[in-house]
Amino acid sequence: MVSRAAAPLSISRISICEALTSDWHAYARSVRCRRAVADKTASSIWSVNGSLILLVEDDEDIGSELIQALTSHGYRARLASGGTEALSAATAEPPDLVLLDLGLPDIDGVVLCRRLRAAVPDGIIVVLTARTSEFDVVVALDAGADDYLTKPFRLTELMARLRAHLRRRPGPQERTCIEVGRLRLDLLARRAYLGPEELALRPKEFDLLAVLTGSAGKVLTRNELMAGVWDETWFGSTKTLDVHVSSLRRKLMLHGEPAERISTVRGRGYRFEAEPAG
Ligand code: CA
Repeated sequence: MVSRAAAPLSISRISICEALTSDWHAYARSVRCRRAVADKTASSIWSVNGSLILLVEDDEDIGSELIQALTSHGYRARLASGGTEALSAATAEPPDLVLLDLGLPDIDGVVLCRRLRAAVPDGIIVVLTARTSEFDVVVALDAGADDYLTKPFRLTELMARLRAHLRRRPGPQERTCIEVGRLRLDLLARRAYLGPEELALRPKEFDLLAVLTGSAGKVLTRNELMAGVWDETWFGSTKTLDVHVSSLRRKLMLHGEPAERISTVRGRGYRFEAEPAG
């Protein structure tokens, strides 16, 4: 008989890679389809969801593989290996969605679920656990979880559920305008203004500025920016990103903004400062 603690977890390095591969073609098709419909619209900028996902998982292997899978699907992902760490991470930067393992070393998962629900009332909580009984499912849902997925699970199904939950959630994809200080972006008209003056931006410069300002004050990694602006499946050089950032800085400076408004965060990526430096 298999104990709960030793419940089978098929999410090994190999199975995740296989699941990723099998998921990939369907995912790429859906991305192409969405792009064909939404290209040149405000929502195309957000076609890879840059949503923040907090993964609460104490198993190091599962944690690192899932973080890798989430990142490769265009999400920003953070890992917390226990309940205390999860609560402080959720408080520091409220996640759009929490993937919650119930079997944690420091806090019972159901208790943590209640606390996370209180800490992040608008966030989505998806339980990902080896606990399979109807009782466990009901208790977790009553504690504030929005969905429940048991281990072993298929990565394709997990990703589909994440997309379904995040699609329904009001978020940046529903924005029509972004305003940060003097800067204003009309996402429907695809026009950017600094005060009353319009910036002359090329299409990708506009997309990049929209992604940066849409998360003003937060660091966006190079891969997140490449995925958000150029291609969800980007794995190559990111030099084109630097070229576009330089061009954006020049154009902002022409209208009186300091170049440091777009900060380089060494070893990570870029951040659009919510407030001008100095
Ligand atoms: Ca666990």
